[in-house]
Amino acid sequence: MQPLTLGHEVVGVVEEMGAGVESPKPGDRVILYYYVGCGRCAHCLVGDENLCDALRAEYGFVSDGGFAEYATVPARNAVRLPAEISDDAAAPIGAA
Ligand SMILES: [Zn+2]
Repeated sequence: MQPLTLGHEVVGVVEEMGAGVESPKPGDRVILYYYVGCGRCAHCLVGDENLCDALRAEYGFVSDGGFAEYATVPARNAVRLPAEISDDAAAPIGAA
């Protein structure tokens, strides 16, 4: 999958939400959970998306990542951050 936008430890601010999405909201600071699983297999249903046989994305690794100005991601992958956690401290959490 080339060319590829790098950046797999992503912190950003939500700009817009898709239809029907209630959280996060525009203006929320979020990290991106690294794996985008199929959401339906036994692994995904118990939160082990890293074991999914039908991964849809791994940001900045096999799919476009966070060095882009904007990214479109599933709402469940955008995890709100509390204000007391800095961007630098938070970024690795999404991939760890
Ligand atoms: Zn899956």
